[in-house]
Amino acid sequence: MKQKKVVIIGGGLGGIAAALRLAATGWQVTVCEQGARLGGKMNVWECDGFRFDTGPSLITMPLVFEELFKVAGSALAEHIELAPMRPLSDYVFADGTRFTYTSSLPEWLATLRELEPRDVDGFLRFMRLGARLYALSKETFLRRRPVDAPDMKSLRALRHLPLRYGWGNYHRTVAAHFKNPSLRQLFDRYPTYVGSSPYASPATLAVIPYIEYAFGGWHIKGGLYRLVESLVALSRAMNVEILTDTRVERIEHDGKRVSGVRLADGTRLEADALVMNGDAATTGAMLGQQKISQTSSGKISQTYSARSLSGFVMLVGVGRKLPQLSHHTIYFSRDYPREFSQLFNERRFPDDPTIYVSAPSRTDDSLAPSNGETLFIMANAPANDETWTERQIEQARERVFERLSKSGFPEIESDIIVSDVWTPQRIARDYLMPGGAIYGTHSHGWRRAFLRPPNKDANIGGLYYVGGSTHPGGGTPTVLLSAKITCELIERYENGKG
Ligand SMILES: Cc1cc2nc3c(=O)[nH]c(=O)nc-3n(C[C@H](O)[C@H](O)[C@H](O)COP(=O)(O)OP(=O)(O)OC[C@H]3O[C@@H](n4cnc5c(N)ncnc54)[C@H](O)[C@@H]3O)c2cc1C
Repeated sequence: MKQKKVVIIGGGLGGIAAALRLAATGWQVTVCEQGARLGGKMNVWECDGFRFDTGPSLITMPLVFEELFKVAGSALAEHIELAPMRPLSDYVFADGTRFTYTSSLPEWLATLRELEPRDVDGFLRFMRLGARLYALSKETFLRRRPVDAPDMKSLRALRHLPLRYGWGNYHRTVAAHFKNPSLRQLFDRYPTYVGSSPYASPATLAVIPYIEYAFGGWHIKGGLYRLVESLVALSRAMNVEILTDTRVERIEHDGKRVSGVRLADGTRLEADALVMNGDAATTGAMLGQQKISQTSSGKISQTYSARSLSGFVMLVGVGRKLPQLSHHTIYFSRDYPREFSQLFNERRFPDDPTIYVSAPSRTDDSLAPSNGETLFIMANAPANDETWTERQIEQARERVFERLSKSGFPEIESDIIVSDVWTPQRIARDYLMPGGAIYGTHSHGWRRAFLRPPNKDANIGGLYYVGGSTHPGGGTPTVLLSAKITCELIERYENGKG
């Protein structure tokens, strides 16, 4: 029988995972990536002995990664070394409070007792809520295809969900579980893992802190990009054709079914099926539609008001050791509601941003010269296409360093050896993400959080979607789950299996 051809538009994590899965089920796979390297937002920058991950700095749910290697007939441990993050992170607050968050329960409960004894119970209840949401979403959301009707098991799980919190507002749910203001701010941060505000997200996102606590946070030795390098090597070994610097400009179709793609240089690639790994919101233009594709969950809004957060990122190589830093530290702003109001309502970079600093060379000395540190410094920024002027970049930089300096971060400016800056516009340009939104649409309101663009186009046969802008959403493990769901749909609809 003739081998069926699939073209994958984009070589991000979702695209590579789909390529591996489809190659494993007998498809002839071509990946077209417009960038110079595969990985998409999970990417790398190397300079003068410093190696930076430009995107993710922490992964969770390692079992999902292990599963992908297994599908490719291999084992994760043969390719990469996962290192558990113990502790998970240090937290520094504007009032001078600081403590360490760890997945060692006895140590963490001792910290909680010191901060606010009543919050010990609140934390355990909050984790229980997350665990119930996880059990439910595993059946209905994370692993199931959105076109499937829920089964009796899922409905039974739904009946046991504490609805008062499960369907309420995220921040109010955090406030109902924690009395201590620092703990409230800590747990309010989790919706930013999917580019959203705690004040507008549904409480169902309480599944995120649970997943991190239960499955742990993990680093990959040599940097997270080692994962992409291993998956690309596996793909090549499975005869996946990988084309870099290759932008797909058009999806060819007759209104009912896809037939191939047209590349920016005019080349036509024929295909029996297509998988879109770029942002789902850009598909309409590629289909030749004025608006984006009408999918079964309705139109995906193209307005930036519906987009998830973008980021202002500084990659900094420092020429001295910083033993006072942990692998991960969060330096919180003084006024969290104001920060999110500036991000989502005023749509501007906050006056006093919360700063996330990852210093992976603190635990992995392969990432920096022996007398240096590799720092990834990130603040949330609104998604838009506005060009940041030099003055705006400098202003954002000043605000970042002002917050860090007020929070007791060491003075590093005179020891910076290499540095690079990412603005929302650069994220938008380099990965073709409208507005530089890292996670597609935001998760405000439970409909948006749970009814994301589906993995199969509702109108055009043979067109599928994978990655953070589609179901089930952004973040590395979720993107891998998305690849699994998409490939199951392809097996069902293209090969009549499943
Ligand atoms: C600064 C930052 C920090 C992050 N931190 C974390 C973290 O700590 N933990 C975590 O789990 N996640 C994190 N993420 C999110 C994570 O990186 C993403 O959710 C995930 O990598 C997205 O993968 P994807 O396959 O959906 O899309 P992408 O990585 O965006 O890949 C899509 C690819 O498609 C290509 N493409 C688009 N259109 C076309 C076209 N027309 N033709 C050809 N190619 C095209 C793009 O160039 C891109 O390479 C972070 C992201 C960023 C940017």
